[in-house]
Amino acid sequence: MIIVMEPGASEEAIARVEAKIRENGLDVHISRGTERTLIGAVGDERKLEPEAFETLPGVERSLHILKPYKLVAREWHHASTVIDVGGVIVGGRELQVIAGPCSVETEPQMRESAAAVASAGARMMRGGAFKPRTSPYAFQGKGVEGLDMLKKAAAPHGLPIVTELMDVRMLDTFLDRGVDVIQIGARNMQNFDLLKELGRVNVPVILKRGLSATINEWLMAAEYIAAGGNHKIIFCERGVRTFETAYRNVLDVTAVPVLKRETHLPVIVDPSHAGGKAWMVPALSCAAVAAGADGLLIEVHPSPVDAWCDADQALSPSEFTMLMQTLSQISMAVGRTLPIPDMMRQAKSA
Ligand code: PEP
Ligand code: MN
Repeated sequence: MIIVMEPGASEEAIARVEAKIRENGLDVHISRGTERTLIGAVGDERKLEPEAFETLPGVERSLHILKPYKLVAREWHHASTVIDVGGVIVGGRELQVIAGPCSVETEPQMRESAAAVASAGARMMRGGAFKPRTSPYAFQGKGVEGLDMLKKAAAPHGLPIVTELMDVRMLDTFLDRGVDVIQIGARNMQNFDLLKELGRVNVPVILKRGLSATINEWLMAAEYIAAGGNHKIIFCERGVRTFETAYRNVLDVTAVPVLKRETHLPVIVDPSHAGGKAWMVPALSCAAVAAGADGLLIEVHPSPVDAWCDADQALSPSEFTMLMQTLSQISMAVGRTLPIPDMMRQAKSA
Protein backbone atom coordinates (compact mmCIF):
# COMPACT_ATOMS: atom_id res chain seq x y z
CA MET A 1 0.00 0.00 0.00
CA ILE A 2 1.21 3.53 -0.57
CA ILE A 3 0.27 6.58 1.41
CA VAL A 4 0.57 9.78 -0.58
CA MET A 5 1.32 12.69 1.72
CA GLU A 6 0.14 16.20 0.93
CA PRO A 7 2.84 18.52 -0.43
CA GLY A 8 4.57 20.05 2.58
CA ALA A 9 3.25 17.47 5.07
CA SER A 10 5.01 17.87 8.43
CA GLU A 11 7.56 15.44 9.87
CA GLU A 12 5.09 14.79 12.66
CA ALA A 13 2.41 13.72 10.18
CA ILE A 14 4.90 11.43 8.42
CA ALA A 15 5.94 9.90 11.76
CA ARG A 16 2.32 9.26 12.65
CA VAL A 17 1.70 7.34 9.44
CA GLU A 18 4.92 5.39 9.97
CA ALA A 19 3.90 4.44 13.51
CA LYS A 20 0.50 3.25 12.34
CA ILE A 21 2.04 1.01 9.69
CA ARG A 22 4.45 -0.50 12.23
CA GLU A 23 1.64 -1.10 14.73
CA ASN A 24 0.15 -3.41 12.11
CA GLY A 25 3.38 -5.38 11.86
CA LEU A 26 4.48 -4.06 8.45
CA ASP A 27 7.72 -2.39 7.40
CA VAL A 28 7.89 1.18 6.20
CA HIS A 29 9.60 2.62 3.18
CA ILE A 30 9.70 6.40 2.95
CA SER A 31 10.51 8.12 -0.34
CA ARG A 32 11.07 11.84 0.23
CA GLY A 33 10.76 13.61 -3.10
CA THR A 34 11.19 17.33 -3.61
CA GLU A 35 7.48 17.67 -4.26
CA ARG A 36 5.98 15.21 -1.85
CA THR A 37 6.69 12.27 0.41
CA LEU A 38 5.38 8.84 -0.48
CA ILE A 39 5.19 6.19 2.21
CA GLY A 40 5.09 2.51 1.36
CA ALA A 41 3.82 -0.20 3.69
CA VAL A 42 5.86 -3.31 2.98
CA GLY A 43 4.60 -6.71 4.07
CA ASP A 44 1.23 -8.41 4.24
CA GLU A 45 -0.86 -5.49 3.00
CA ARG A 46 -4.13 -7.33 3.52
CA LYS A 47 -3.90 -6.28 7.16
CA LEU A 48 -4.24 -2.63 6.21
CA GLU A 49 -7.27 -0.64 5.13
CA PRO A 50 -6.44 2.47 3.08
CA GLU A 51 -9.34 4.35 4.71
CA ALA A 52 -7.65 4.07 8.10
CA PHE A 53 -4.86 6.37 6.88
CA GLU A 54 -6.91 8.90 5.01
CA THR A 55 -8.22 10.51 8.17
CA LEU A 56 -4.69 11.16 9.50
CA PRO A 57 -3.37 14.71 9.18
CA GLY A 58 -1.19 15.41 6.15
CA VAL A 59 -2.40 12.37 4.22
CA GLU A 60 -3.71 13.09 0.74
CA ARG A 61 -4.62 9.55 -0.32
CA SER A 62 -3.76 5.98 0.39
CA LEU A 63 -4.27 2.95 -1.81
CA HIS A 64 -3.24 -0.61 -2.53
CA ILE A 65 -1.03 -0.85 -5.61
CA LEU A 66 -1.30 -4.19 -7.32
CA LYS A 67 1.73 -3.81 -9.57
CA PRO A 68 5.20 -4.82 -8.37
CA TYR A 69 6.42 -1.31 -9.19
CA LYS A 70 4.67 1.20 -6.98
CA LEU A 71 5.97 4.76 -7.08
CA VAL A 72 6.43 4.80 -10.83
CA ALA A 73 3.02 3.19 -11.51
CA ARG A 74 0.25 5.20 -13.10
CA GLU A 75 -2.07 3.37 -10.75
CA TRP A 76 -1.65 6.02 -8.03
CA HIS A 77 -0.82 9.00 -10.26
CA HIS A 78 -3.26 9.16 -13.16
CA ALA A 79 -1.95 12.44 -14.53
CA SER A 80 1.28 12.34 -16.52
CA THR A 81 4.23 13.70 -14.59
CA VAL A 82 6.14 16.51 -16.21
CA ILE A 83 9.80 17.05 -15.46
CA ASP A 84 11.28 20.50 -15.59
CA VAL A 85 14.88 20.52 -16.77
CA GLY A 86 16.00 24.13 -16.43
CA GLY A 87 12.79 25.38 -18.02
CA VAL A 88 12.54 22.61 -20.63
CA ILE A 89 9.40 20.67 -19.79
CA VAL A 90 9.52 16.94 -20.53
CA GLY A 91 6.29 14.96 -20.55
CA GLY A 92 3.91 17.77 -21.45
CA ARG A 93 2.20 18.45 -24.76
CA GLU A 94 5.40 19.77 -26.27
CA LEU A 95 7.88 17.17 -27.50
CA GLN A 96 11.49 17.65 -26.50
CA VAL A 97 14.38 16.62 -28.67
CA ILE A 98 17.79 16.03 -27.13
CA ALA A 99 20.55 15.94 -29.71
CA GLY A 100 24.31 15.96 -30.03
CA PRO A 101 27.21 13.68 -30.76
CA CYS A 102 27.69 10.20 -29.36
CA SER A 103 30.84 11.37 -27.64
CA VAL A 104 32.51 14.61 -26.76
CA GLU A 105 35.64 14.88 -28.92
CA THR A 106 37.03 18.38 -29.34
CA GLU A 107 35.99 21.95 -28.58
CA PRO A 108 35.31 22.85 -32.24
CA GLN A 109 33.27 19.65 -32.70
CA MET A 110 31.19 20.52 -29.64
CA ARG A 111 30.77 24.17 -30.65
CA GLU A 112 29.53 23.19 -34.10
CA SER A 113 27.29 20.47 -32.72
CA ALA A 114 25.68 22.83 -30.22
CA ALA A 115 25.02 25.50 -32.83
CA ALA A 116 23.57 22.92 -35.23
CA VAL A 117 21.23 21.20 -32.80
CA ALA A 118 20.04 24.45 -31.23
CA SER A 119 19.27 26.07 -34.57
CA ALA A 120 17.26 23.02 -35.65
CA GLY A 121 15.11 23.19 -32.50
CA ALA A 122 16.65 20.72 -30.04
CA ARG A 123 16.12 21.93 -26.47
CA MET A 124 18.82 19.88 -24.75
CA MET A 125 22.25 18.69 -25.79
CA ARG A 126 23.75 15.23 -25.39
CA GLY A 127 27.37 14.08 -25.54
CA GLY A 128 29.12 11.19 -23.83
CA ALA A 129 32.24 11.99 -21.79
CA PHE A 130 32.42 8.49 -20.27
CA LYS A 131 31.73 5.89 -22.93
CA PRO A 132 30.73 2.26 -22.38
CA ARG A 133 32.64 0.64 -25.24
CA THR A 134 32.58 -3.03 -26.21
CA SER A 135 36.36 -3.00 -26.67
CA PRO A 136 38.69 -1.82 -23.92
CA TYR A 137 40.98 -0.56 -26.70
CA ALA A 138 38.34 1.74 -28.23
CA PHE A 139 38.09 5.45 -27.31
CA GLN A 140 36.72 5.57 -23.77
CA GLY A 141 35.66 9.22 -23.72
CA LYS A 142 37.30 12.49 -22.66
CA GLY A 143 36.26 12.06 -19.03
CA VAL A 144 35.85 15.09 -16.79
CA GLU A 145 37.35 17.36 -19.44
CA GLY A 146 34.54 16.19 -21.72
CA LEU A 147 31.89 17.23 -19.19
CA ASP A 148 33.33 20.73 -19.20
CA MET A 149 33.49 20.83 -22.99
CA LEU A 150 29.85 19.79 -23.23
CA LYS A 151 28.72 22.40 -20.71
CA LYS A 152 30.77 25.13 -22.35
CA ALA A 153 29.40 24.37 -25.82
CA ALA A 154 25.77 24.10 -24.72
CA ALA A 155 25.66 27.15 -22.43
CA PRO A 156 25.58 29.94 -25.05
CA HIS A 157 22.50 28.30 -26.59
CA GLY A 158 20.76 27.80 -23.25
CA LEU A 159 20.73 24.02 -23.72
CA PRO A 160 20.68 21.84 -20.59
CA ILE A 161 23.16 18.96 -20.90
CA VAL A 162 22.56 15.21 -20.82
CA THR A 163 25.45 12.81 -20.33
CA GLU A 164 26.03 9.24 -19.25
CA LEU A 165 27.18 8.25 -15.78
CA MET A 166 28.76 4.80 -15.55
CA ASP A 167 30.53 4.82 -12.21
CA VAL A 168 29.01 5.90 -8.94
CA ARG A 169 32.38 7.40 -7.93
CA MET A 170 31.84 10.11 -10.57
CA LEU A 171 28.42 11.18 -9.29
CA ASP A 172 29.67 14.12 -7.22
CA THR A 173 31.78 15.31 -10.13
CA PHE A 174 28.69 15.21 -12.38
CA LEU A 175 26.81 17.33 -9.85
CA ASP A 176 29.73 19.77 -9.41
CA ARG A 177 30.11 20.19 -13.17
CA GLY A 178 26.43 21.06 -13.54
CA VAL A 179 25.18 18.03 -15.47
CA ASP A 180 21.48 18.77 -15.92
CA VAL A 181 20.27 15.24 -16.72
CA ILE A 182 22.15 12.07 -15.85
CA GLN A 183 21.83 9.33 -18.45
CA ILE A 184 22.01 5.73 -17.31
CA GLY A 185 22.94 3.66 -20.29
CA ALA A 186 21.51 0.34 -21.39
CA ARG A 187 24.45 -1.54 -19.91
CA ASN A 188 23.82 -0.12 -16.44
CA MET A 189 20.05 -0.32 -16.29
CA GLN A 190 20.26 -2.96 -13.59
CA ASN A 191 23.30 -1.62 -11.77
CA PHE A 192 21.27 -1.42 -8.59
CA ASP A 193 23.93 0.27 -6.45
CA LEU A 194 24.21 3.02 -9.04
CA LEU A 195 20.41 3.35 -9.18
CA LYS A 196 20.21 3.59 -5.38
CA GLU A 197 22.70 6.46 -5.37
CA LEU A 198 20.69 8.27 -8.04
CA GLY A 199 17.73 8.00 -5.71
CA ARG A 200 19.52 10.35 -3.34
CA VAL A 201 20.07 13.20 -5.78
CA ASN A 202 17.71 15.82 -7.11
CA VAL A 203 18.81 15.66 -10.75
CA PRO A 204 16.58 14.17 -13.47
CA VAL A 205 17.66 10.79 -14.77
CA ILE A 206 17.20 9.29 -18.23
CA LEU A 207 16.97 5.55 -17.69
CA LYS A 208 17.69 3.68 -20.90
CA ARG A 209 16.26 0.25 -21.44
CA GLY A 210 18.70 -2.60 -20.90
CA LEU A 211 19.92 -4.54 -23.93
CA SER A 212 17.37 -7.30 -23.39
CA ALA A 213 15.33 -5.96 -20.50
CA THR A 214 11.66 -6.72 -20.15
CA ILE A 215 9.23 -3.88 -19.49
CA ASN A 216 8.81 -5.16 -15.94
CA GLU A 217 12.56 -5.20 -15.27
CA TRP A 218 12.84 -1.70 -16.67
CA LEU A 219 10.03 -0.35 -14.50
CA MET A 220 11.51 -2.07 -11.45
CA ALA A 221 14.88 -0.45 -12.19
CA ALA A 222 13.17 2.95 -12.21
CA GLU A 223 11.49 2.02 -8.93
CA TYR A 224 14.95 1.75 -7.34
CA ILE A 225 15.60 5.41 -8.18
CA ALA A 226 12.15 6.53 -7.09
CA ALA A 227 12.35 4.55 -3.85
CA GLY A 228 15.37 6.63 -2.84
CA GLY A 229 13.35 9.84 -3.26
CA ASN A 230 14.31 10.96 -6.76
CA HIS A 231 11.05 10.97 -8.70
CA LYS A 232 12.46 12.72 -11.78
CA ILE A 233 12.89 9.78 -14.11
CA ILE A 234 12.56 9.69 -17.89
CA PHE A 235 12.41 6.31 -19.61
CA CYS A 236 14.29 5.93 -22.90
CA GLU A 237 13.58 3.10 -25.32
CA ARG A 238 16.72 2.49 -27.40
CA GLY A 239 16.03 -0.83 -29.09
CA VAL A 240 16.44 -4.35 -27.81
CA ARG A 241 18.58 -7.22 -28.97
CA THR A 242 16.79 -9.90 -30.96
CA PHE A 243 17.60 -12.65 -33.48
CA GLU A 244 17.72 -10.01 -36.23
CA THR A 245 21.16 -9.03 -37.51
CA ALA A 246 20.19 -6.63 -40.30
CA TYR A 247 20.21 -3.70 -37.87
CA ARG A 248 21.86 -2.91 -34.57
CA ASN A 249 18.78 -3.39 -32.38
CA VAL A 250 15.03 -3.63 -32.85
CA LEU A 251 13.24 -0.44 -31.84
CA ASP A 252 10.42 -1.65 -29.63
CA VAL A 253 7.76 0.88 -30.62
CA THR A 254 5.21 -1.19 -28.70
CA ALA A 255 7.02 -0.30 -25.51
CA VAL A 256 5.99 3.35 -25.88
CA PRO A 257 2.21 2.99 -25.45
CA VAL A 258 2.70 0.17 -22.95
CA LEU A 259 4.99 2.26 -20.80
CA LYS A 260 2.79 5.33 -21.10
CA ARG A 261 -0.02 3.19 -19.73
CA GLU A 262 2.00 1.64 -16.92
CA THR A 263 3.83 4.69 -15.66
CA HIS A 264 3.06 8.37 -15.13
CA LEU A 265 6.66 9.27 -16.00
CA PRO A 266 7.80 10.57 -19.40
CA VAL A 267 8.98 8.18 -22.12
CA ILE A 268 11.40 9.15 -24.86
CA VAL A 269 12.98 7.18 -27.71
CA ASP A 270 16.56 6.94 -28.98
CA PRO A 271 16.25 5.97 -32.66
CA SER A 272 20.03 6.22 -33.23
CA HIS A 273 21.13 3.26 -31.11
CA ALA A 274 18.11 1.28 -32.23
CA GLY A 275 18.74 1.27 -35.97
CA GLY A 276 22.46 1.88 -35.85
CA LYS A 277 22.39 3.55 -39.29
CA ALA A 278 21.75 7.22 -39.98
CA TRP A 279 19.35 6.48 -42.82
CA MET A 280 17.02 4.60 -40.46
CA VAL A 281 16.84 7.41 -37.91
CA PRO A 282 14.13 9.54 -39.64
CA ALA A 283 11.71 6.62 -40.06
CA LEU A 284 12.21 5.40 -36.50
CA SER A 285 11.85 8.92 -35.12
CA CYS A 286 8.55 9.38 -36.95
CA ALA A 287 7.29 6.05 -35.63
CA ALA A 288 8.26 7.01 -32.08
CA VAL A 289 6.41 10.32 -32.21
CA ALA A 290 3.36 8.70 -33.78
CA ALA A 291 3.40 6.07 -31.03
CA GLY A 292 3.21 8.73 -28.32
CA ALA A 293 6.80 9.30 -27.22
CA ASP A 294 7.40 12.48 -25.20
CA GLY A 295 10.64 13.19 -26.96
CA LEU A 296 13.68 11.84 -28.76
CA LEU A 297 17.40 11.43 -28.08
CA ILE A 298 19.22 11.68 -31.40
CA GLU A 299 22.90 11.49 -32.32
CA VAL A 300 24.04 14.41 -34.49
CA HIS A 301 27.64 15.13 -35.51
CA PRO A 302 28.98 18.07 -37.55
CA SER A 303 30.79 15.59 -39.78
CA PRO A 304 29.43 12.07 -39.21
CA VAL A 305 32.19 10.26 -41.14
CA ASP A 306 34.74 11.73 -38.76
CA ALA A 307 32.90 10.78 -35.55
CA TRP A 308 35.11 8.94 -33.05
CA CYS A 309 32.20 6.78 -31.96
CA ASP A 310 28.99 5.55 -33.64
CA ALA A 311 29.83 7.30 -36.93
CA ASP A 312 27.35 5.18 -38.92
CA GLN A 313 24.31 6.36 -37.03
CA ALA A 314 24.99 10.08 -36.59
CA LEU A 315 22.88 12.55 -38.56
CA SER A 316 24.56 15.54 -40.20
CA PRO A 317 23.26 18.98 -39.19
CA SER A 318 21.26 19.31 -42.43
CA GLU A 319 19.71 15.84 -42.07
CA PHE A 320 18.76 16.70 -38.51
CA THR A 321 17.21 20.02 -39.53
CA MET A 322 15.08 18.29 -42.16
CA LEU A 323 14.01 15.61 -39.71
CA MET A 324 12.93 18.22 -37.16
CA GLN A 325 10.66 19.82 -39.76
CA THR A 326 9.02 16.48 -40.50
CA LEU A 327 8.65 15.66 -36.81
CA SER A 328 7.10 19.01 -36.17
CA GLN A 329 4.34 18.18 -38.66
CA ILE A 330 3.81 14.68 -37.28
CA SER A 331 3.57 16.05 -33.77
CA MET A 332 0.57 18.18 -34.79
CA ALA A 333 -1.20 15.14 -36.25
CA VAL A 334 -0.96 13.37 -32.89
CA GLY A 335 -2.01 16.32 -30.75
CA ARG A 336 1.49 17.37 -29.69
CA THR A 337 3.73 20.28 -30.61
CA LEU A 338 7.37 20.51 -31.62
CA PRO A 339 8.22 24.15 -32.16
CA ILE A 340 11.20 24.59 -34.47
CA PRO A 341 13.01 27.89 -34.94
CA ASP A 342 11.54 28.69 -38.38
CA MET A 343 8.05 28.25 -37.04
CA MET A 344 8.88 30.36 -34.02
CA ARG A 345 10.13 33.15 -36.25
CA GLN A 346 7.01 32.96 -38.43
CA ALA A 347 4.75 33.02 -35.36
CA LYS A 348 6.52 36.14 -34.06
CA SER A 349 6.28 38.00 -37.36
CA ALA A 350 2.57 37.11 -37.86
C1 PEP B 1 24.64 6.43 -25.79
O1 PEP B 1 23.56 7.03 -25.68
O2 PEP B 1 25.68 6.97 -26.22
C2 PEP B 1 24.70 4.98 -25.45
C3 PEP B 1 25.86 4.37 -25.20
O3 PEP B 1 23.51 4.40 -25.47
P1 PEP B 1 23.01 2.95 -24.95
O4 PEP B 1 23.32 2.93 -23.50
O5 PEP B 1 21.56 3.00 -25.26
O6 PEP B 1 23.76 1.93 -25.74
MN1 MN C 1 26.36 6.34 -29.31
